[in-house]
Amino acid sequence: MTDAPLLQVTGLTKHYSGRRSLGQRLSGVPQTVVRAVNDVTLSVRRGEILGLIGESGCGKSTLGRAILRLHEPTAGKVVFDGTDVTALGADDLKKMRRRMQIIFQDPYASLNPRRTVAEIVGLPLKLHGLAASDEEVRAKTAAMIEKVGLKANQLDRYPHQFSGGQRQRIGIARALISNPEFIVCDEPVSALDVSIQAQIIELLQELKTEFGLTYLFISHDISVIGYLSDRVAVMYLGEIVEMGPVDSVLSRPRHPYTQSLMSAVPEIDTVGRKSRVRLKGDLPSPLNPPSGCKFHTRCPLAIDACRSKAPLTETVGDGHVAACHRLAENLSLLESTEA
Ligand code: SF4
Repeated sequence: MTDAPLLQVTGLTKHYSGRRSLGQRLSGVPQTVVRAVNDVTLSVRRGEILGLIGESGCGKSTLGRAILRLHEPTAGKVVFDGTDVTALGADDLKKMRRRMQIIFQDPYASLNPRRTVAEIVGLPLKLHGLAASDEEVRAKTAAMIEKVGLKANQLDRYPHQFSGGQRQRIGIARALISNPEFIVCDEPVSALDVSIQAQIIELLQELKTEFGLTYLFISHDISVIGYLSDRVAVMYLGEIVEMGPVDSVLSRPRHPYTQSLMSAVPEIDTVGRKSRVRLKGDLPSPLNPPSGCKFHTRCPLAIDACRSKAPLTETVGDGHVAACHRLAENLSLLESTEA
């Protein structure tokens, strides 16, 4: 791993305009806006795994897709290896996609059921002109299929002829065949059985080492994030609320939301578990996010200021930042549980 960021994301924002029926438009119902990702700034070093954790619906997947411009950002900048991805035209973006890939959560939905494995995995080679002939496409596809643990004689089968874990291996092969440097792993094991999850995680680790890959690894499972990641970013309602080295964030979580995530994982033995933080209610709607700190409607430590003023992000350790008005009190609480 090097210190230079391979990926620098600054102020990335993705809002979606809500749909209105003709009747709503005619009667003057205002346009709604889903604020999925708000002003996210983060970097990923070459060779690093940055884990992105948060509840379903918090904007993790949208952030991953906005980084790749699969969803066009509303505002902000994504710089990959010195190139401003957000400013690229269609042709240059297509070339950049060879270097920035994604593995999707649902291996079945992400594979075209009418295409064979050879066609699915070989397509990026054709799109990017990475093979001189059909024979070369076939040979490279067969080699990649074997690299992810399948057999070359399975190339002419269709996705439905494989198990869930095998289908995810096909998705991984499709992401890797263009020899990318950076991969957004969007909940790649969430849809799989636990025993298969371990195999896929091991495969992703082996491939990262072999090909020198950099991952943004998205998951709602803090155990998976803790096992895999070098650093972790915690997301709540479209914003990063805490980020830092995985050991620091998971052993000394400073944001009440991170503390609540840690409290909910019985198998991780952390200091923070001694002072459990239990959340009230559900994740608020990004259609109408709370004012001030977006976490205040559920936070057991909320004070009046939290309802009106958004907290600034502050450094709380070496490379460890968090955004909360009560970081000092949180530290006292943490130290009292460690004593
Ligand atoms: Fe809780 Fe206030 Fe901190 Fe937000 S700023 S996490 S509401 S204490």
